[in-house]
Amino acid sequence: MIPIVTAEEMYAIDREVEERIGISADSLMENAGQALFRVLKERIPRAAKVAVLAGTGNNGGDGIVIARMLKSYGYEADLWLVPPMEKVKGAARTALQVYERSGYSWVAYEGKERELAALLPHYDVIIDALLGIGVKGDVRPPYKEIIEQVNRSSAVVYAIDVPSGVPADGGEAGTAVRADVTLTVHCPKLGAYTFPAADYYGELTVVEIGIPPAAVQAKAAARFVWEMRDVIGTMPKRQRASHKGTYGKLLVVGGSKAMTGAVTLAAKAALRSGAGLVTMAVPETVYEAVANRVPEAMCRPWPAEGGAFAGAADWDGLEIDAIAVGPGMGRTEGVRRLVNELVRQPVPLVIDADALFFWGDYAEFVRGRSAPTVITPHPGEMARLLRRPVSEVERDRFGVSKRLAMEYGVYVVLKGPYTIVTAPDGAQYVNATGNPALAKGGSGDVLSGMIAAFLLQHEAVQPAVSNAVFVHGQAADWLVQNGHSVWDVLASDVIDALPAVLAGFNA
Ligand code: ADP
Ligand code: ADP
Ligand code: MG
Repeated sequence: MIPIVTAEEMYAIDREVEERIGISADSLMENAGQALFRVLKERIPRAAKVAVLAGTGNNGGDGIVIARMLKSYGYEADLWLVPPMEKVKGAARTALQVYERSGYSWVAYEGKERELAALLPHYDVIIDALLGIGVKGDVRPPYKEIIEQVNRSSAVVYAIDVPSGVPADGGEAGTAVRADVTLTVHCPKLGAYTFPAADYYGELTVVEIGIPPAAVQAKAAARFVWEMRDVIGTMPKRQRASHKGTYGKLLVVGGSKAMTGAVTLAAKAALRSGAGLVTMAVPETVYEAVANRVPEAMCRPWPAEGGAFAGAADWDGLEIDAIAVGPGMGRTEGVRRLVNELVRQPVPLVIDADALFFWGDYAEFVRGRSAPTVITPHPGEMARLLRRPVSEVERDRFGVSKRLAMEYGVYVVLKGPYTIVTAPDGAQYVNATGNPALAKGGSGDVLSGMIAAFLLQHEAVQPAVSNAVFVHGQAADWLVQNGHSVWDVLASDVIDALPAVLAGFNA
């Protein structure tokens, strides 16, 4: 798991490393510059003409070390420094002295504005070390013009740590560098996973610079990227000595006259994800339309009223180990009564879609549930849960998820690009798989079936949920790499791609 930090946490980590552990700021900057250079060296062709644009802060200091290394290795590189030079302090000042004593010269931007403007189009590569995580508010001159010129050039742009001008913790970027690649130093910053800031990053690469993990742990909140290696480490084995009962009996509750497909998508996705036995419970009036669509699942007609559930469940002879409720249920009073009954069953529970509409009814009850509760809102559903505008949810996805998860003791899956899974203790796990092919009705129904199936098979809840989100996104990625476009993918294609993706975890 890669930790994700806020700017404030990153500064606290730096202080911890310098003051308590005792690696000086000068050494830290030298290490960072060296590590960044090693990555750049692999990527920048020897013949490339490189401009390193450095600001006066620590970000600029990293750029100065990179420029020195590029020159030492024989690259044709120019270092442009943005005034005022008296602002270059501390480690950045040391880096500049070392640079100068190495016999290298630099160009001051001041007075050469026209020259840089004329030259920029002729560089093949621009290294953006103008502004880092210390940027506050809208970018001021002269950075503003420089950034606009960088964005107009056709050079490959590598941003150091964060694209200049992008707020480290996310939010609206005013004038900011649109990077092709961002080499983030040691820990990605929150904004790399929050839109619209994330759009400026291009490809994100994490460059480790030798900060002891203890320093990160001591100063940063538990907030991570859930990676392939985490999935590999936590995917459950399928035992030889096992039977369908070993892998759990899942009840998927959903459907209404207007939406008969959602529940079948969830049920089929659950079966494709390893659930042992799946039963769909649907309003009796849609039973005929649903029952034969997933032959491997069982189907139960429950009392209906006006094309939706009437409110009563029929538990006769039904054994269940987990429930997924919500897909395509509608929002009638009957649905309300049924949802309130279902959340009271003492089994692991996934609450999605229309079942989330009645959150206000059962939220207090959920707090005391003995079995795990997973809620899977998209931002619109989250906004309704919280009675806040969607824009507020989008602006603070991490914050709103964490508060909700901790207040109600639930696992929150806040969907969308970079889906965040938050555990009741507040720990957060970001998913980086998936693509806009998933932005289509039905994708979420597939996910809720997958989460429920994984809950039945994993020991721990958070890895189950994160692995489902990861594999769901990976299936969409696999599709667009194997003959599909981002436009044509259907939710049922995502289910059909599960075999290809899950085969990678065969054990
Ligand atoms: P730091 O040195 O604080 O780690 P940076 O390398 O990002 O971080 O440099 C921040 C410096 O950039 C600040 O000290 C300030 O002088 C300058 N700065 C901050 N915000 C802006 C802005 N909006 N426009 C231009 N310069 C800025
Ligand atoms: P539905 O209820 O129609 O099935 P949801 O909105 O509940 O759809 O779920 C959509 C699913 O698709 C979620 O898992 C979400 O993370 C994913 N998704 C949607 N848009 C994107 C996107 N642009 N990039 C990555 N994943 C996306
Ligand atoms: Mg949905």
